[in-house]
Amino acid sequence: MCFVKAEGDMGKGKGQGMAGAMARLWAPWRMAYIKEAEKGGACFLCGLPKQKKDRANLILARGKTGFAILNKYPYNNGHLLVAPYRHVADIEKLTDAEALELMRLAGAMKKAMDRAFRPHGYNVGVNLGRAAGAGLPGHVHLHVVPRWNGDTNFMPLLGDTKVLPLTLAETWDLLGRAIRR
Ligand SMILES: [Zn+2]
Repeated sequence: MCFVKAEGDMGKGKGQGMAGAMARLWAPWRMAYIKEAEKGGACFLCGLPKQKKDRANLILARGKTGFAILNKYPYNNGHLLVAPYRHVADIEKLTDAEALELMRLAGAMKKAMDRAFRPHGYNVGVNLGRAAGAGLPGHVHLHVVPRWNGDTNFMPLLGDTKVLPLTLAETWDLLGRAIRR
């Protein structure tokens, strides 16, 4: 299991756009993730699809050139990643088929999320390079993060608690059902 070499530390972003929006989401469990990621290790986006344990590995969908996987350390319920199987660092290195499927998978996952969770909005984006907050800069991946009104601010004010009402396994089950619908 190589989630230790985990994806991005988007939360460090203080800039505009997605990184800024992510910085306002409060996700303390991500610190363990980030510390683990800094230790290095195998690329989990390469390793997990080779195993045939999609439920255990939280893989939601597979295409010909890429796949969708729940983020093990999410910013929100349903936070998932879409990536090519190929270990490529930059979007310009994607083949046409990979680039198309990446977007199509993101769209299919968003549609399933609409059905399963009815979020109020989404952040969809890519962090390229460590300066942009990428924790796994060698393997390009697209984040799909569902957002709800007030998800950035209500519980952290009340205590050291962020409400993530669903476990990852429950999220996988619900999204999986919505994908197949
Ligand atoms: Zn990789």
